[in-house]
Amino acid sequence: MNCKSFDRLIGSFIENKGEIREAAEFIRHMDACESCRKDFETDFYAFWGLKMLGDPDLDSYDIQEEMDRMITDTRARIKNDQSIRIIIGLLIAAACIIVLFIILNH
Ligand SMILES: [Zn+2]
Repeated sequence: MNCKSFDRLIGSFIENKGEIREAAEFIRHMDACESCRKDFETDFYAFWGLKMLGDPDLDSYDIQEEMDRMITDTRARIKNDQSIRIIIGLLIAAACIIVLFIILNH
């Protein structure tokens, strides 16, 4: 992912609409690119700042904490997603071996 595609995804990521595959690349780019991470933080604060203005219930909202939580959650989700992919891959491999075994012994 480059800075331009990162920039395009910031909005949907903040609103939690990002695809998991994109989220993985998004986080990777954010870890690697200082200026994009700053852009993301600025946009995140702007988004929640505006939301708070319109909703008094969000008055004591800790934006920094929300941002940390969201990034941690996303990392956990990506990890989960990768584990599921590995398990599915292993199951398919096992199924292929069984089918092969049956064919060879027929
Ligand atoms: Zn960048």
